[in-house]
Amino acid sequence: MGEKNICDIFSEYPEVIYGFTDIAYSEYASAYKSALVFAVPHGELLTIETYSEEKFEKCIQDAQKVVEIILIQLKDMLDEHKIKYYIPPLAQNNEVELTAPFSFKYAAINAGLGWIGKNDVLITTKYGPRVRLSAILINEYFVYGEKVLTSNCPDTCRKCVDACPHKALYDAQWNIHARRSTIIDYRLCNEKRSLSIKTHGRKNACGLCMVACPFGT
Ligand code: SF4
Ligand code: SF4
Repeated sequence: MGEKNICDIFSEYPEVIYGFTDIAYSEYASAYKSALVFAVPHGELLTIETYSEEKFEKCIQDAQKVVEIILIQLKDMLDEHKIKYYIPPLAQNNEVELTAPFSFKYAAINAGLGWIGKNDVLITTKYGPRVRLSAILINEYFVYGEKVLTSNCPDTCRKCVDACPHKALYDAQWNIHARRSTIIDYRLCNEKRSLSIKTHGRKNACGLCMVACPFGT
């Protein structure tokens, strides 16, 4: 069991990118052997010309609905085979460090789905950053993807950097050893996006640095 059943589920979603990684690096390593990571593309691949915050938010919500449907299918299959799994929470639970307990982004790099762009988000060759990520920890071994170690952003590209209205991006290339703080002023980004909580009841789904990316368009 395992891989074949998972591939069967994803064969219903040919647009979704997925892969496996061991999670020896994670605090969950003692309980689970692997993570399945998948990236659901936005229904509309917005560009800087077609962007609006509302459209971008809708892309996220629609992709999240697909994520949830896939997770239900995965859970049903794993329950049926009595395989232990855990779905880590998506949300940041640390508003100081702005981190989640299990980073989908880091798992995606380890599974070979893409690299981190100068905008500090996962960039896939096929969709650029226009994907919704999810992951499920599974207590099984799989064939793992090849870990991505360096950025594939052209050195000269700074479209995301220039798109940020708050100058939160430093025009810095990522590699596997890079610290997030060398790429983005994430507190500034979070602070600016949080300003809309009062007016809209949620953080601004700012996607300017994502829709500016030429990958995926
Ligand atoms: S999400 Fe918005 S505020 Fe944050 S870095 Fe990107 S463009 Fe700037
Ligand atoms: S806009 Fe350019 S620099 Fe920014 S993430 Fe995309 S390819 Fe990389």
